[in-house]
Amino acid sequence: MSRLLQVVFIGCRKSGQLDLEAVEMLVRDSMHRAGAAALERLLSMPSAQPEDATCGCGHAAQHQGKRAKQILTALGPVRMERSYYLCRHCHHGHSPLDRELDVEGVAYSPGVRRMLAVVGSEHSFDQGREQLKLLAGLEVTAKAVERQAEAIGTEMEACEQAEIGRAKQLDLPAVCEAAAPVFYIEMDGTAVPVVKAETEGRAGKLEGQPAHTREVKLGCVFTQTTTDGESRATRDESSTSYVGAIETAAAFGLRLYTEAWRRGWNRAQKKVVIGDGAVWIWNLADQHFPGATQIVDLFHARQHLWELGVRLFPQNPKRRKRWMAVCLDRLDKGKIEALVKFLHQLHPADPEIAKFATNEAEYFARNAGRMRYPAFRAQGLFVGSGVVEAGCKTVIGARLKRSGMFWTVHGANAIIALRCCRLSHKFEDYWANRSKAA
Ligand SMILES: [Zn+2]
Repeated sequence: MSRLLQVVFIGCRKSGQLDLEAVEMLVRDSMHRAGAAALERLLSMPSAQPEDATCGCGHAAQHQGKRAKQILTALGPVRMERSYYLCRHCHHGHSPLDRELDVEGVAYSPGVRRMLAVVGSEHSFDQGREQLKLLAGLEVTAKAVERQAEAIGTEMEACEQAEIGRAKQLDLPAVCEAAAPVFYIEMDGTAVPVVKAETEGRAGKLEGQPAHTREVKLGCVFTQTTTDGESRATRDESSTSYVGAIETAAAFGLRLYTEAWRRGWNRAQKKVVIGDGAVWIWNLADQHFPGATQIVDLFHARQHLWELGVRLFPQNPKRRKRWMAVCLDRLDKGKIEALVKFLHQLHPADPEIAKFATNEAEYFARNAGRMRYPAFRAQGLFVGSGVVEAGCKTVIGARLKRSGMFWTVHGANAIIALRCCRLSHKFEDYWANRSKAA
């Protein structure tokens, strides 16, 4: 400390001023090094060295003396000497101290791994590396950020899968959260760019073109206790939790069901599922959330009419406007049967447009019961899936859809698990439970 201050004083005297930033960084660095030296002594303290230790395979492993291991801690690199045991039965070596310190098979302390998970979930792995250098004074590679963030995300996903497995067996834990009057589930899909190997044999959006993306299914659960002054639905603050993955609709259905249960879905006074018109969404709603009010996002329904209008009256904006006004009025009033009838009255000459119009009429007919907007509004319910759409941008887009990013399904799912966990305010719980289990 005194040597350090001497250097600073000499510098000050020479230049006549104090460069605070240079000094604070220098002091932090020195403090880290002093701390690392203390930690090194602490971790290499002499301890009892039994002749045998139990190997993971169940057999006894024999003491082989001390072995050195270097780990990166919040204070910088630390070398430790610890007892090493080798199993003659399965030929695996291990150190009981590594297990105790939660550094088995990794070269990063739990504190540093937590930092790596946080920066890796927020930014590109290289930006994470930069942040760790600036904010924590730690030197790591971008690859290390990637590996550790992915490893923790994968571990979170494994915990979630265990919970999903229990939910499947109907072995569900009691829910202690207070029941909210209205529970919402929203789901949506969003495309994430992936590496070539992940799209082999999959058709792209354009016919004959290979796919470059895979669909992430994202779901959210949130509650509503009141409406605002004008009896519009309001979401309970920080009540939203997210789940998502690149996976089949069946797997995703169980994932969302488990999350809904965890949040107290079965005790809600009113249950609502909102989505766009995608068939998989309503299949899952029927299967896992029977009895819930189903609502097709009003803005998606309107979008369907806009697209049809453009096709029907490409050159005639005035007619299109008149036609649209009739359609939108019927949609907003929930008079879907009248809307379908109106659409069936169209007889466009172009067979392709006629086919398109018939499909659209069928879309509205199929979803009529999910489009009674005045009735939903009268109950003070949301009629849009804005929460999950915003989720697609913040949870997925902001991290996984930046230019130049191409994901493996495994890597994307690990980071999605990590982001869902953090944005659902579950990260601290996960971390606490994890060290309890260790
Ligand atoms: Zn063994």
